[in-house]
Amino acid sequence: MMLLTKKMIEIRSLLQTVGQSETLTLPSIVVIGSQSSGKSSVLEAIVGHEFLPKGHNMVTRRPIELTLINTPDAQAEYAEFPAIGLGKVTDFSQVQRTLTDLNLAVPASECVSDDPIQLRIYSPNVPDLSLIDLPGYIQVVGRDQPPELKEKISELCDKYIQAPNIVLAISAADVDLANSTALRASRKVDPRGERTIGVITKMDLVEPARAVDLLTDQKYALRLGYVGVISKPPQQLNNVFRRGSGNISSAIIRNENAFFSSHPLEFGPQSELDVGTTTLRKKLMLVLEQTLASSLKSTSEAIQHDLAETTYEFKVQYNERPLSAESYLAESLDAFKHSFKGFTEYFGRPQVREIIKHELDQQVLNLLASRYWNKPFVDLSPPPSESDPLSDLPKADPENPLWHLKLDASSSSLTKLGIGRLATSVVANSIQAHINRLISTSTFAVHPFARQAITDASASILKDLSYEVSDDLEICIKPYKFKFEPDDKEWAKGRDNISTVLKEELRTCEEAIKSVESTVGGKKKLRDVMGFIDRVRSGQVVLEGNGAGGAGGFSASLLDKGRDAVFLRDRADIIKMRLLAVKSKQCATKKNKYYCPEVFLDAVADKLTETADLFLEADLLSKFFYLFPRELDARLGRGLSQGEVDRFAREDPKIRRHLDVVRRKELLEHVLKEMEALRQLEQREKRYTSRA
Ligand code: GDP
Repeated sequence: MMLLTKKMIEIRSLLQTVGQSETLTLPSIVVIGSQSSGKSSVLEAIVGHEFLPKGHNMVTRRPIELTLINTPDAQAEYAEFPAIGLGKVTDFSQVQRTLTDLNLAVPASECVSDDPIQLRIYSPNVPDLSLIDLPGYIQVVGRDQPPELKEKISELCDKYIQAPNIVLAISAADVDLANSTALRASRKVDPRGERTIGVITKMDLVEPARAVDLLTDQKYALRLGYVGVISKPPQQLNNVFRRGSGNISSAIIRNENAFFSSHPLEFGPQSELDVGTTTLRKKLMLVLEQTLASSLKSTSEAIQHDLAETTYEFKVQYNERPLSAESYLAESLDAFKHSFKGFTEYFGRPQVREIIKHELDQQVLNLLASRYWNKPFVDLSPPPSESDPLSDLPKADPENPLWHLKLDASSSSLTKLGIGRLATSVVANSIQAHINRLISTSTFAVHPFARQAITDASASILKDLSYEVSDDLEICIKPYKFKFEPDDKEWAKGRDNISTVLKEELRTCEEAIKSVESTVGGKKKLRDVMGFIDRVRSGQVVLEGNGAGGAGGFSASLLDKGRDAVFLRDRADIIKMRLLAVKSKQCATKKNKYYCPEVFLDAVADKLTETADLFLEADLLSKFFYLFPRELDARLGRGLSQGEVDRFAREDPKIRRHLDVVRRKELLEHVLKEMEALRQLEQREKRYTSRA
């Protein structure tokens, strides 16, 4: 019934995946022996490959949990290190190198580590077994080794040779058994010799009669007995196999057979002694199987106990809410799409209109400043004459053809600004900003990968749509580039709107002055420095140099701040003046458009906005609203592999803990079911053998 070991090995691997192997230990065969007792050779003879670290310096610093899995139908043999994801390793010298590296990674100061290296070997030539190889006992500490090494190795071995593990105690035939550290250690924990298998290596190095004595040792009699082996392949073969990846088992077994059959008296069938690697393998399989079978009940109970705890945690902490990485992703995606839907319902033509108009208002203000009313940023050199700060501004004169030209040029600057590109990009930017806000209030906020995927999805759609939309929009606004005359209603609306814009601009200026005020340390100080600057500009004060190093008792930086404030004050004055103009009777009718370029330009901007918002709503918004959820599905739904979905969900520590509990619970339930099936099978088998 070798199925049991195989099943139990599977169960052990499953328990390892949820980190339960610590509490739920299934019995293993623990291999101990002094350095050079031939311990590695025994394991390699069983596996059929040289794969363990070699060298004079002690290289085994960590236990190796070696799981052998018999794959009867497979051709290839390979190894796996489940904890480090190297994949299938078919070259056993690479296994040897990896083990050496993993061992050497333990700092010399720590001597040995009890964190095991997991190694699985799949092969049609190995039996199903699980073995734990431990660092070899040392007799004398080397000069370059820490003094406590010997003690540390002993402690590590003592920890592993506890019940219910089986101890495989390796001793060399050419050393007195009374001196065998392995047997001595085992005897301490298993005084009646019930779970120790003695292995005597190097049988070829002693006289057959002496070898027989060793195998029938009565000083430490073992219920499971002693097995004599010659695990070293013949020299010439050894070299051949060292170079290739051939299996060494059969050569070793042939060599052993030749040796033992040349001494039929001592080792022949009548002697009833256990010799040879084949016998050892069979014995190990049988003993492990029996031990696992007898531990079924206690292991089942331990798993039941763990399951009960996990179920309790699931109930209390998670209210029995089922969760999988897929369901978490699907729910998160649904919630996100739902909030996106909310956005699509709120964000429509009026919002697009507002965004575009706001942008064009700014453009109108820029045009007015550059073509009409502006006082340049002040320097400290006095102007040639005037003393009235606003007197150098141009005055509107509708009789002068220059003023006609000015208005035409301004209006044409506005229409030729590249509205297509400008409007599309401000709306696209606003959509992107909304999406970013949606992300930051969604469950995706704590998932960098998903954040990026969503941002990329919207950015790429917006980019694709923008090209076409901006060109088409540009064509649509073409008529306004040549001739536009507002009607009365449009004029009135423009007048209203530009008043609001100017008031807003005025407010901004005044706030900016206040903020300068607070940085210089108060109203009075700012007033003083501004007064000084005004006096310089009006020629009342003559500066030496340009004031770069400070002047009038003010530091250079204070003068800079003062100049900012003077500029802002002048700008505020101009805006106040224009606000009065716009509100005046003169600007009430479009007849006087040359007096009121603000109103005219606002009406132009409004016309452009109206065309653009209609267009962008249809060609950018609607298309984006349609494409975006689909792109989300492609990038975060179907498009992800299982591994990516898992990695995504586990990014959130809360979800990770929840998933772990769910997974542990499912796994323990599964394992328990398997164990129950095994127990029933075992009981049936027992009944069958007792009847036979
Ligand atoms: P470990 O330090 O206990 O792992 O011992 P090794 O397996 O590395 O063996 C130590 C030395 O003994 C090596 O040189 C092996 O080739 C040699 N050796 C191992 N088993 C036998 C054997 O059965 N017969 C002989 N003659 N030499 C062996």
